[in-house]
Amino acid sequence: MRQKIVAGNWKMNTTPAEGEALAKAVVAASSEVKGVTLILGVPFTHLCPVSKAIAGSDVKLSAQDCSAHDKGAYTGEVAASMIAPFGAGYVILGHSERREYHGEDSAILNEKMKQAYANGLAPIYCVGEKLEEREAGKHFDVVTKQIEEVVFNLSDEQFDKLVVAYEPVWAIGTGKTATADQAQEIHAHIRKVLASKFGAKAENTPILYGGSCKPSNAAEIFSKADVDGGLIGGAALKAEDFIAIAKAF
Ligand code: PEP
Repeated sequence: MRQKIVAGNWKMNTTPAEGEALAKAVVAASSEVKGVTLILGVPFTHLCPVSKAIAGSDVKLSAQDCSAHDKGAYTGEVAASMIAPFGAGYVILGHSERREYHGEDSAILNEKMKQAYANGLAPIYCVGEKLEEREAGKHFDVVTKQIEEVVFNLSDEQFDKLVVAYEPVWAIGTGKTATADQAQEIHAHIRKVLASKFGAKAENTPILYGGSCKPSNAAEIFSKADVDGGLIGGAALKAEDFIAIAKAF
């Protein structure tokens, strides 16, 4: 059976102290969640306090990005080798906000993927189309290209650790959610594209939905065959909502 995952993307929210408190609240309620891996995607500054807050629990830690370089004169950058020692197992790569505001393209993301794997971080690789691309009926082509240009460069062994997140840009932080049928349709497409390169292994790849997912809509979205969980932004900032989403399976 495929792993079920609910991952929080805290983005640039919470002070370190607030983040620590939020992580503690998630840990405290995590026993209510069965059979779902909980991941907290925290700012770099929060890796240390949150790693302490989740120590001894099943809650996992993720960064929201990593540098495309291993070390050196890259002011402000944070290397994957600096993230892993905090016990982080994951890194979110290719989030639409990174693609949009930091010009991240496939060439950069290929380098980031290499750094992630070299340091034992499993990428949560985000794909998704903009509103105008969906309206033009190009959403299948957009996600196919985002996968072909990056995921197809992975080895079979690397692919085994990959998590994919489908996040339609028009649904992120907007309150608009893809319908469960829209999510299923494109998740099934993503799995087909993955299978065209990696064969039956694609059956094991967790594909998460992201975009205004909340306690009230999670159950319907997660009921779909190819939706294996969620990447949660706004609703991950309240432990109660995050846990309620994870209980929606
Ligand atoms: C995200 O940006 O990863 C996300 C899914 O955000 P939100 O849940 O706030 O739409």
